[in-house]
Amino acid sequence: MSYTVTIQPSGKTITVNADETILTAALRQHAVLAYNCRNGLCGTCKNKLLNGSVSYDQAELKGLSDADREQGLILCCQAKPNEDVVIEAELIDAVSDIDIRTVPCRVASMKQLAHDVMQLQLKLPEGMGLIFLPGQYINFLLSNGEERSFSIASAAADNEMIELHIRHVPGGLFTDHVFNNMQEKDMLRFRGPLGTFFLRQELTGPIIFMAGGTGFAPIKSILQQMFSQPQQRDIFFYWGVRAQQDLYLHDLVTQRHQQFDRFHYIPVLSEPMDKDNWQGRCGWVHDAVIEDHPDLSDFSVYASGPPPMILAAKPAFSAIGLQADHMFYDSFEFSHEV
Ligand SMILES: Cc1cc2nc3c(=O)[nH]c(=O)nc-3n(C[C@H](O)[C@H](O)[C@H](O)COP(=O)(O)OP(=O)(O)OC[C@H]3O[C@@H](n4cnc5c(N)ncnc54)[C@H](O)[C@@H]3O)c2cc1C
Repeated sequence: MSYTVTIQPSGKTITVNADETILTAALRQHAVLAYNCRNGLCGTCKNKLLNGSVSYDQAELKGLSDADREQGLILCCQAKPNEDVVIEAELIDAVSDIDIRTVPCRVASMKQLAHDVMQLQLKLPEGMGLIFLPGQYINFLLSNGEERSFSIASAAADNEMIELHIRHVPGGLFTDHVFNNMQEKDMLRFRGPLGTFFLRQELTGPIIFMAGGTGFAPIKSILQQMFSQPQQRDIFFYWGVRAQQDLYLHDLVTQRHQQFDRFHYIPVLSEPMDKDNWQGRCGWVHDAVIEDHPDLSDFSVYASGPPPMILAAKPAFSAIGLQADHMFYDSFEFSHEV
């Protein structure tokens, strides 16, 4: 049994097979809707149901509140049609032609950048470079069938060597393995590229990038793309971490700040240590953005990292004028039901 989903206003139709979610079916048919975690948590794939009905495997979905349900919103990464349906959703053309592939890779190098951050360089087979947009992520395929998501930190041009920044989650299945057992030359498999967090070229105003911890990874990839061309606009990078030791590529970002007049770097510490003798900004990173830019109506904001940072920033930024279609986020949700 399959159903047809019509996506308005484009009028594009897709076929959703039995037990398939709308998002999975859409991606299979190269109709890309905005999405991020694919676990029903982040809410990026929330869209309006115009006609028909859908159901979910789970009764409660963190990314879909009662108020959302009352407004007729659905979470496309979890929703399965009960009949032919019509939804209102933007199609993200920029990634629709990029194939999502399963790729083998070798750990080419491992470098500990901070006490809890490992930089992995993954070598892909010759001629099998990954075509991706800076900002996208990959999912490692683990032997128990689970997947783990990590954002690509390297430039898209160097597509046979993929850089990742992996934060150690003590007790975490995959990141414990990375920190305790992984060796150079180990083989891994991943699926990708995934996600719709990438630079919107059509928005030409000033940009604020905001990262929490390893949320710097996708932003580093996007910045590398931007620095390869002359920039006519201001670019602000706010990096929120606990203490100075967590600014794991501080020297690299400082260098870029010195090289590019219009690139502004603002590290923000939430719990500086005494030994830091920190003279810079303190507090929550999104508060620092608001202090410096009390009116965000001309800006685009790209935020990536811990879900609480993004949850706090979304309403706070919209209250000071940020337009909903100028905010893009990569929420590092960590449920691994796929
Ligand atoms: C789109 C996306 C991109 C991501 N990109 C990156 C990235 O570039 N770098 C990076 O370091 N992380 C990133 N993450 C987060 C990363 O996927 C998780 O931290 C990782 O899956 C943890 O795997 P694990 O097997 O070690 O832990 P698990 O075995 O999955 O979890 C062990 C325990 O720790 C909790 N937990 C897991 N992850 C976290 C976390 N991040 N914070 C707090 N508690 C956690 C779990 O709920 C569980 O209780 C990203 C997540 C998403 C959804």
